[in-house]
Parts: sequence; structure tokens; C-alpha cells
Amino acid sequence: MSVSDFTVVGGGIVGLSVAWALSERQPGLRILVLEKEAAWARHQTGRNSGVIHSGIYYQPGSLKARLGRAGNQSMVAFCRQHGLPHEVCGKVIVATQDQELPLLDRLHQRGLENGLEVRRLGTAQVRELEPHVRGLQGLQVPSTGIVNYSQVCAKFAELIALRGGDLRLKAGLLGIRESGSTLAIETTAGAFETRFLVNCAGLHSDRVARLAGVAPPARIVPFRGEYYELTPEKRPLVRGLIYPVPHPDFPFLGVHFTRMIDGRVHAGPNAVLSLKREGYHRTDVNLRDFAEVMLFPGFWRLAARNVREGWKEMVRSFSKAAFVRSLQLLIPEVQSDDLVPADAGVRAQALQPDGKLVDDFLIVRGPRSLHVCNAPSPAATASIEIGQAVAAQVPAN
Ligand SMILES: Cc1cc2nc3c(=O)[nH]c(=O)nc-3n(C[C@H](O)[C@H](O)[C@H](O)COP(=O)(O)OP(=O)(O)OC[C@H]3O[C@@H](n4cnc5c(N)ncnc54)[C@H](O)[C@@H]3O)c2cc1C
Repeated sequence: MSVSDFTVVGGGIVGLSVAWALSERQPGLRILVLEKEAAWARHQTGRNSGVIHSGIYYQPGSLKARLGRAGNQSMVAFCRQHGLPHEVCGKVIVATQDQELPLLDRLHQRGLENGLEVRRLGTAQVRELEPHVRGLQGLQVPSTGIVNYSQVCAKFAELIALRGGDLRLKAGLLGIRESGSTLAIETTAGAFETRFLVNCAGLHSDRVARLAGVAPPARIVPFRGEYYELTPEKRPLVRGLIYPVPHPDFPFLGVHFTRMIDGRVHAGPNAVLSLKREGYHRTDVNLRDFAEVMLFPGFWRLAARNVREGWKEMVRSFSKAAFVRSLQLLIPEVQSDDLVPADAGVRAQALQPDGKLVDDFLIVRGPRSLHVCNAPSPAATASIEIGQAVAAQVPAN
């Protein structure tokens, strides 16, 4: 059996970007990518909003802020270079109530601290950009864009294969064992051996870390994001990307309107606890996944602190009328009949035992491995930069 220099577990955008960055580092490196599904990007990456975020929301100096902003530029450059459909259409964040205005001020300030071009908008300027939106004031962030991240992944896979990388689909990692100076890897597609392993397993990244003998400092808790889609005749209600002012203590952005690169317009996502890590429907339950969350003290601490917001999200999940009411705060014209359900996604969010969500990207080191233990939004945007950052941390061969 030949020994690979690096094995990347996970064929989402982070794993493929890491493998691509490693393949660029040194010609001739033997790189293996293991993905359990039959195609790339079947989970978070293929079920997201397709936004190339600007980096406005994040704590200045954090990895999310730095890699997000740089990632915005490198993702756009990558798409240009490889002819992938994308558009830098900008976005507007809209305050619809007086009490949101101080939060909009803070967001404006944060955008400037993060080095972004941010334009303050009055009511009329909001309407100029988005004629159907009713807002008191807004922010325009011109660098935000849209893309199909599954297409980006297909391109990464093509480039890795061109450099001789070994890409395996239907190869789920089952076990890892130290074997002298290498790791013996057991998968659903047979056994492999590697000198170093990089875990980019998204919703399963904490479990893969434990298989490698590394105790991750946080547990993955799955939060489903459910979407509706505007019917084709109502798509003209939205020109670009329309967001509310996010709740300052809640990690998600609030339901919003997103024009996708294929012309569809998504409304959502909300954020509800999923009873299965890859549970895309409300009725999906996996006993192991569910029990792990229920027995994790961090979950109950988080729930206690977010009863109100959590409850609102649950109501929005079960009641289309409540979902529509949230959307009408932005576009009063939108009616229930204008919206049809669209595919949901599930976010892999790392949660600490003290009930705090891990805010930043988190990379944990093991003796012969590196584990991307928290890569929530904007990790698709930042993926090229995350790939470079991870490649810079693995030992030279
Ligand atoms: C609803 C939603 C909306 C979002 N919107 C945006 C957005 O607009 N812009 C943005 O930048 N980000 C967005 N994000 C976040 C973004 O999608 C993620 O940060 C990013 O896709 C993470 O990529 P990943 O490769 O880490 O995870 P994933 O895409 O989930 O990939 C992990 C892969 O690992 C594989 N895997 C797991 N376990 C194993 C195993 N044992 N063996 C082999 N393979 C395994 C899985 O099958 C999967 O393919 C959104 C996320 C969601 C859920």
C-alpha cells in the first residue's frame, strides 16, 4: 500500500481548498481526499445561501474578519480566473425599527474597522437600490457577491486531480490508528496509510478529531436553516441581497432575501436545532445525534440564555405565517402565496461546555493531524484563505 503525505477528510469547500493549497505547496506531494458521499459538497457547502460575504459582521482582528475579508477577494479572483459564474452585486442591511438604529451605527463602525467600504443609506436611498423594501435607514456593502459554491468545489477537485491528487468519493472514514511513523486509516472504501491527516469533516469534525485521539474543546451542534423561495413571477421584488440588522447576541443573521447566481431568490434561513446532524427535514431524527446534544451541558446553558430568540426561531419553523411576517418587515408586499419551500441546510456550529458558541474559526492540532473544528459562515467565502492557513500549519515534508 502506498503511503500518502497528506490525507484530507471531507470533500466540502474547506477540505477541497486545503487539498488544493497543499497540492500547490510542493510538486509531487501525495495527497488523498476522502469524502463519504457520492459527490462533492453534499452538505453545508452545497446547501448554503451562496453569498460571498464581505466580512462586515466579525470582531476586528478575528480569523473570521481577516480570512473573511481576504477570502472575499480571493474567491472573486478565483471565479474570474476560472470563468465561474459569480457577481459582485453588493448587499443592503436594513433597519426597519427605531431601536435598530444604534445597532446599525455599530455595524457601520465595525465595517469601517474591518477596512470595508460601507455606505450609509437614508430611506430614499434604500428604495433606490431596492424599490420594494421599506426601511428607516440602511447600509450598503458593495463588496458582497454571489456564487454557486458547488461549482467552486468542482473546480477545486479538477485542479487537485490535475496535480496528481487522489480523490475518493464514497470513502467514509471509520477509524484511525497510529502505525509507527504513519497513521493507518480505515474507510468504507478500504484501508489507507498517511503521514499526516487534516480533518475538514464539517458536521462530523468533532467525531473525526476523537477518532484521531484528539479531544476537541467544543462539540458540534447542528442548527438547521430552512428556506423558502420566491415564485418566479415574484423574483423582481428583490434586486440583490437584503438583510435585516442582526440581533447582537444571536450568532445568525436573521431571515433575509438572497438572489442566487441562477436567478432564484431565497428567503431565509432561520436557525433551529436539528435532531440529526445531517437532518434536512423537521422530522429527521438520529438517536445518537439527539442524545449527544441533550446530554451536553453546554446545550442547556445556551438554551437558557436564548429562550426568547430560540422560541421565535421554532415558531418560524413551524408556522409559515410567522416566517412571512418576518420577511414582511423588509418587504411588506411579500405574501404567503409568493413563497414555496426550498431545500434546507444544516450549520455545524461548535459549542463549548460553558454554553458559549465558538465564535471564530477553530483549528486544533494533534500529533500527526490538524482538525478544523469550527468552520461556520463565512467559511465558504473564506475557504481559499482557510486552505492556505491550514497548509501553512502542516509540517513540511
Ligand atoms: C444554511 C446555511 C447557509 C450558509 N450560507 C453561507 C453563505 O452564504 N456564505 C458563506 O460563506 N457561508 C455560508 N454558510 C457556511 C458555509 O456553508 C460553511 O461554512 C462551509 O460550507 C463549511 O464547509 P466545510 O467543508 O467545512 O463543511 P461541509 O460542506 O459540510 O463538508 C464536510 C464534508 O465532510 C464529509 N465528511 C464528514 N464526515 C466524514 C467522514 N467520516 N469521512 C469522510 N467524509 C466525511 C461530509 O460528507 C461533507 O461533505 C452557510 C451554511 C449553512 C448551513
